[in-house]
Amino acid sequence: MPKQAVTVLAPAKLNLALDVVGTLPNGYHDLDMVMQAIDLHETLVLRRSRYLDLHMPGSFVPVNNKNTAIKAALAFFDYTGLLAGVDITIHKRVPVRAGMAGGSADAAGVLVGLNDLYDARLSMSELCAIGAGIGADVPFALMGGTCRVRGVGDLLKPLPSCPACWFVVVMPSVGISTPEAFQRYDRMGSPVHPDCNAQEAAVRAGDLAGVCAAAGNALEHCSGATETPAIRALLDQNGALTSLMTGSGAAVFGVFADKAAAETAAAALRRSYEQVYLARPDHGGARVVRMPRRGAKSPAPQT
Ligand code: ATP
Repeated sequence: MPKQAVTVLAPAKLNLALDVVGTLPNGYHDLDMVMQAIDLHETLVLRRSRYLDLHMPGSFVPVNNKNTAIKAALAFFDYTGLLAGVDITIHKRVPVRAGMAGGSADAAGVLVGLNDLYDARLSMSELCAIGAGIGADVPFALMGGTCRVRGVGDLLKPLPSCPACWFVVVMPSVGISTPEAFQRYDRMGSPVHPDCNAQEAAVRAGDLAGVCAAAGNALEHCSGATETPAIRALLDQNGALTSLMTGSGAAVFGVFADKAAAETAAAALRRSYEQVYLARPDHGGARVVRMPRRGAKSPAPQT
């Protein structure tokens, strides 16, 4: 019996470091980054259908052919030549215009889900090639874990898992447009250029203090996100090992060595900000998950 439906988890990302190192021949910015998947996930349910439909209950993101989930489905059917459709429901948890690649996670989730639903057996490199045509962060959303990322986001080098830690992620009330942040970077430049080599070495050595010492974001000063300094100050006052903006903003996060310190900081931040998330590093990318059957007994707790 062919599968009728699949459920996919697609992690958001944080930039442990983001540097702008030049301009590519096509005019895009050449980036050098260390990216980390986190266990703040989008959940997607894909069902076989003769039509192409998308539902995003509770989300204000427009459901049209500019939506990354629709673009991914169309690109998948184009690449495989399958004459089929899909009904997609996305339960969105990742904040929008946050620099956390929620839209890219949705595209990656659709590609992985369709590959499984229709047993198309595309390789990771084929999925990444399709994904790169949809958005710069889609290849990382497919790969996940911890990666050194170059180019516009398309050149990935998987790294060992970053040292165990907790993230407190704060999304201010106003999001940021990525193209506008880069336009401001071109006018203003940046005083911050994180040492991605040092951070990669610290990741490889399992040295959380070294990861934090090398953290930084070249887009932070020009992002236009006015609340970044205040959020960072609160995170720092509440014990963050380091704090920085992710991607082109607007979300800001702090790194904590242990859960108790992160929970205390998250509680403090919630007094001033509505959207505060506690997250851990995720070791994978977008993936199909087996959902427990309704009525199935949950496994006995392990003692
Ligand atoms: P990145 O770090 O990749 O720049 P971001 O977090 O800054 O990501 P997203 O939230 O992924 O930005 O996307 C921002 C824009 O993309 C929004 O203006 C939104 O309308 C559009 N968009 C299209 N499809 C989606 C989707 N499935 N989810 C979120 N945004 C989407």
